[in-house]
This record gives sequence, structure tokens and C-alpha cells, in this order.
Amino acid sequence: MRVEKIFPLKKANGQCWPKMKEAQRSALNRVSAQLRSREYSTVENNCLCRSKANDIVLANYDRFGLPFSFKLCKECSLIRTDPTLDQKSLDSFYKNDFSLMHRGSLTATDEYFKRFLAQGESFLELLKRLDVFDDVRDILEVGCSAGGNLYPLFLAGKNVIGFDYDANYLEYGQKLGMNLVEGDFYQKVSSNSQDLVILSHVLEHFRDPIREICKVIEKIKENKHLLIEVPGVLHIGNSVYTPLNYFQNDHIFHFNKKHLAVFFTTMGLEILHSDDICRFVLKKPESWRPRTDVAINDGSLRGHYISIQDYIFKTLLEDKYFPYRRVKHSVGNFLRGGQEL
Ligand SMILES: [Zn+2]
Repeated sequence: MRVEKIFPLKKANGQCWPKMKEAQRSALNRVSAQLRSREYSTVENNCLCRSKANDIVLANYDRFGLPFSFKLCKECSLIRTDPTLDQKSLDSFYKNDFSLMHRGSLTATDEYFKRFLAQGESFLELLKRLDVFDDVRDILEVGCSAGGNLYPLFLAGKNVIGFDYDANYLEYGQKLGMNLVEGDFYQKVSSNSQDLVILSHVLEHFRDPIREICKVIEKIKENKHLLIEVPGVLHIGNSVYTPLNYFQNDHIFHFNKKHLAVFFTTMGLEILHSDDICRFVLKKPESWRPRTDVAINDGSLRGHYISIQDYIFKTLLEDKYFPYRRVKHSVGNFLRGGQEL
């Protein structure tokens, strides 16, 4: 079978994994109704390489069964949601639906916080391994949620500040003594003031990642660092197990490591670390200037879309016929006292 023939992927049939809680299902029904009534409206989303109409449509529904299309650009290998919610609808979605639809709860639970705590500890280890950790005093996290990523750094004596729009989730970390602030960071943080900025699972939500990343880089001191993690496409097998669970409408772009390397280099950053999880540690050079009027592409991405589509195909079949990673996760969770098996 030719790989392209499997696309667009079949609708996930609402069989999300892990299973949805009742509160999630209600939020999903509300979003679905708002899309049907056009209360939530959509706009075209062009590729960051600026090429047009050279795409493979990978799916026409997201992991929740919502009608959004996900396109793989043959020019640069980037996947994008197109069309996507317009800014007004996105603002309303994040305010009213996001937490319930994705997390099933309006406030951070201990379990939720612990999951991010483990991630924060892995950030700390990575920074130590790269010999960056001791050099860091002031840390800003954009999109910090309950503060789980920041907490190990806070306990290690670093001066941390986090920003997020969800006041309920911020409250969890505030009670632990961290400086977590509701709203946008840009006006409240001085330029060239941070030794490290963390963007964890945030970049993929930006409608204009080029402009937004420039605003973030502005806040970092020269020769200091930026830690970015996004859900990498080539990590699906280890994270959500099947491409059917990967695509979600509020992820405007779906990155891969090779593409991100071109993206960050074009933005004028030096890459100190990268991996297929799509975790990058970057350095802001001296005399950095914002570059907003650029297309993201270069020769290294030519033909890379083939690796992406082949990986999606392979991962889909692997999970369907030999779901060993999913079974391993469920057994581990069961043994730890969880419900799901
Ligand atoms: Zn492109």
C-alpha cells in the first residue's frame, strides 16, 4: 500500500485515550455546538514557509472528533491546523473550555502537579548536564500553569516567576510560595532581565510563533538561555501512542526536531541541545535583533515530509496491531494504584 493512501486518517470515533471524564465530555459537547453555530469561527492558517497548496491532509478531525484539518507541508515538513480558530474564539476557548476539555478539572489536582514536577526535575537535570544550571539565577516561565515545572528550580534557590491565564491553576503553585502571576508576561518583565526562560508545551499554541518567540527572546539576557519543549511529531509512539490521539485543534502548529532547528536558527538562536521529544536548550547571542519578516525553510528540510508521513503511518500500524507501549503504560499505572487498565 502506498503510504499517502492512508491519509486523511479515519476519525478517532471519539474513543479518546485515556478515557474522558464526564466534565471533559460536557466541555467537548459545548465546543462542538459553538463550532456548529459559528459562535466559534475559524480563519486560514498559512505555513511558516509561506508556500501554498503543497500539502498532504493528514486528518480532518482532531483527537476529540472536532472537525479541524491537519496539513503536512511538503515544502518544509511542518504540520499545521488549517483553518484554525480565530483569535477571539481562541481567547474564549482558553477562558471557558480548555482546562475542562483537556484536564477535566477547573483546579489543579495533586496528580496533575506531580506530573509536571517530574518534568521540572528533568529540566533541572538537563540544565546541569549542559553546565548551564549554576549560571542561572532569574527564571521566567511563560504558560506555567500550576507551577510544577518551576517548583524544583524554586526549591534549588532560583528566583522564579511564572505567568499564565488560568488563575485557578496558578493558585496551586502560589500556595507553595512561588511568584506566579495571572496574565501576559510582556509588559511586566523587563527586557534583557532573565537568565533562563522556559516555554513548555506553549509554542505550538501560538497563532504567530515567529512574533511570539521574538517577544520571549527579548526578555533574555545576552549569552543566556531559553528552554523549549513541544510535543514532537516523531515522539508520538512514546507519548500518546497513536497519531489519532496526537492532533488537537488548539495546537496551531505541530513541530518536528529538524524543522525546529531551522526555526530557531532563523530566529538567531544558538542550539545547545535538541532531541526527538522536541526539547531544545538555546542560547541568545550578543547583539541579537528580532526577525519577524522571515519565512522558515531551508535546503535541509527538502523531502523531510516523507520521514514524517512514514513515521505517522508506522506508528498508526504499530499501535493498532502491536500496542506494547500502551499496555506497558496501563499495567504500570494499575500497579501504582491507578484505575485505568
Ligand atoms: Zn511549509
